[in-house]
Amino acid sequence: MNPDLDSPQSRVLPAELAAIQSNPYSQAIFENQALGIAWVDDRGCILVANATYGRFLGLLPAAMVGRCLADFIAAEDFQGLQDSWPRQGNPPGANTVVEVRHRHRDQGLVWGRLTITRVSQGSSPIPLVLVICEDMTPTKQAEQVLREHQEDLRQSEATYRTLFASNPHPLWVYDLDSLAFLEVNNAALAKYGYSREEFLAMTLGDLCPPRDLLGPYDNLNPLGEGMGRAGVGKHRKKDGTLIDVELTSHRLIFRGHRAELVLAQDISDRLQVEAKLRYSTLHDGLTDLPNRYLLTEKLQAALKQSQRQSSPRHAVLFLDLDRFKTINDNLGHLAGDQMLVILADKLKALVRETDLVARLGGDEFVIVLEDDEPIRGAIRIAERLFSELQMPLSVGDREVFLSTSIGIVLITPAYDRAADLLRDADIAMYRAKVKGKGRYEIFDAEMHASALQRLQLESDLHQALANHEFLVYFQPIVVLQTRQLMGFEALIRWQHPRRGLVDPLEFIGIAEEIGLIIALDRWVLEAVCQQLAAWDQNPALRGLTVSINLSVQDLWNIHLIDDIDRVLARYDLSGDRLTLEITESMLVNDMETTSQLINQLRQRGIQISIDDFGTGYSSLSYLHQLPADTLKIDRSFVSHMQENPKNFKIVETILSLGHHLNLKVIAEGVENQAQQKALQRLGCEFGQGHWFAPPLPAAQAAAYVTSTAKVVDGKGSIPGA
Ligand code: C2E
Ligand code: MG
Ligand code: MG
Repeated sequence: MNPDLDSPQSRVLPAELAAIQSNPYSQAIFENQALGIAWVDDRGCILVANATYGRFLGLLPAAMVGRCLADFIAAEDFQGLQDSWPRQGNPPGANTVVEVRHRHRDQGLVWGRLTITRVSQGSSPIPLVLVICEDMTPTKQAEQVLREHQEDLRQSEATYRTLFASNPHPLWVYDLDSLAFLEVNNAALAKYGYSREEFLAMTLGDLCPPRDLLGPYDNLNPLGEGMGRAGVGKHRKKDGTLIDVELTSHRLIFRGHRAELVLAQDISDRLQVEAKLRYSTLHDGLTDLPNRYLLTEKLQAALKQSQRQSSPRHAVLFLDLDRFKTINDNLGHLAGDQMLVILADKLKALVRETDLVARLGGDEFVIVLEDDEPIRGAIRIAERLFSELQMPLSVGDREVFLSTSIGIVLITPAYDRAADLLRDADIAMYRAKVKGKGRYEIFDAEMHASALQRLQLESDLHQALANHEFLVYFQPIVVLQTRQLMGFEALIRWQHPRRGLVDPLEFIGIAEEIGLIIALDRWVLEAVCQQLAAWDQNPALRGLTVSINLSVQDLWNIHLIDDIDRVLARYDLSGDRLTLEITESMLVNDMETTSQLINQLRQRGIQISIDDFGTGYSSLSYLHQLPADTLKIDRSFVSHMQENPKNFKIVETILSLGHHLNLKVIAEGVENQAQQKALQRLGCEFGQGHWFAPPLPAAQAAAYVTSTAKVVDGKGSIPGA
């Protein structure tokens, strides 16, 4: 065949071919073949083609006639076709087979397997070649898919092998029946410390302690092939140490064995971290005591137990340190922390192994106690603690006295929730604080009611300032000898919309706790100055002086001085119109800062009075350093001074101490003439109390001034005395 020679041209069919084609029988065979057939001359020119060949190329057979067969073959396969073309000398009937790509009219390349046979020779005018074309396209396509699939397979196998060999986690395959190892990766060898030979000579039983051999998996149902499972267990390394492992496994057939591929991850470190984390979430970082979570668990367990017991066996003690905030603020947080740790140790030493001491946070501790007589046991612990706390604690170079208030509650089946137990223990503790601190109280139902009332009061208090529900009353302070007015003490009153006038003792403490006291006291300061300015308009009332009570938070508030300056300026008042009353307990800590502050106040002419003297725990040695003007003897000593010689002695001592320190002394709560006389005899200069006048609304206070003797000057010196 010579493919480049031929162009379409009509040719006369050779006689033999014409004979075949004109025979209807052979024509039918020719046209109805499933194979493509073409008669071609020995130069490759198509003389006739059947419909099947035409369909194979997307053509009508007539369009093929006269064209060279090579026109329909892909260029890459020319050579192959040419090489297979029957040579002149080939014996007739001998055929060659070649697979070549044909160019389909619009489907691109299609595969045909050509069987080429030289038919005529010798006398024939044109040598004839029979080309039979079998459509191989579907087979070739299938072969291609298969080849690609095999390639994928080969690649994925390689990938798996790499994944196995170079996996950073230990991996092995073992025989499910004999438990012998069949394959192992380097990471496993490194982790367990064996050589490959040693490893492959062992069975799974050599790695796992016998318990774990069944352990992590035995609760799982038998698995089918290809299924995975996971568990946690312990493995022994070659050096004998045990490690915690997390195992993930996969069933497979490996080299003909029923096997399991196992991934073993060493989780020893993770478990350790988890254990540490769990410990730290359940314990308090400072004291190492169980925290609220663990406490709640313990309480729940005790509650459950109480449901089954005929009589209660558990009690809760709720402890809160007294004045811890003051200690913390003044000695520093480090010292505060140290004290909490010392206390935690003391508490642990007081209870049995089976009891629990927990820190709730801040200065709150809880003990859960188990005892045949739980309340008695709780009281015993409270009293032992109180007696321990009689001794001061050494913190740095200081000795500090700690005191704590304790609420006790019995765990009974009436409780469902730990939170309710803690709430009631807290209520009892609060009651212990109100009753004077450093004591214990046992919870009862009445406490619950008053706690609710307190909650109500708290929420009312938040709105009271905005609702203008506060008033200032003025109680006269008089010269004992002459009953002349020395000044007033401003005392706040709360006109509660439902409850009427509420006593400050009932809400000052709450205001301090909920952070409202500074706003409240600033309001009093403003109201008092406004009142003084108003009184100044009246010549009969001009120049009065008023004492204002401060709370410890006022004293530590950095804006105190500025606020006072601003209010005095606003009402055009001089500092000597005011006295500030501070209680002695505010003075104990950080004398230096307190003295500086008091000096700044005194530079403005403001006087300082030490309120409720004798009830706090100040050391007398502090007093001489303190730049104060007046001492106020607490009314608890004055009120019983006649009947109780001890009180009388205390009053006498405070008076002599005050005079010794050059302070003037005011007796609070003078209620009768006998007291007035006794105080006078002891040399007390001033008195305040119902015997002279109760706290009065502003208008009545003004009336009191005009109806009584002349006002003495603000510094408390009695003219002519
Ligand atoms: P305090 O500063 O020691 O005030 C004296 C208290 O004794 C006042 O109680 C007064 O009404 C009461 N009193 C005076 N004379 C007698 C008497 O003859 N017999 C009796 N039984 N009581 C007498 P009050 O007004 O209930 O105040 C109680 C405490 O509340 C005050 O004690 C003071 O510590 C605090 N307080 C009052 N007003 C304020 C305020 O505006 N700010 C601050 N931070 N605390 C205040
Ligand atoms: Mg006072
Ligand atoms: Mg007082």
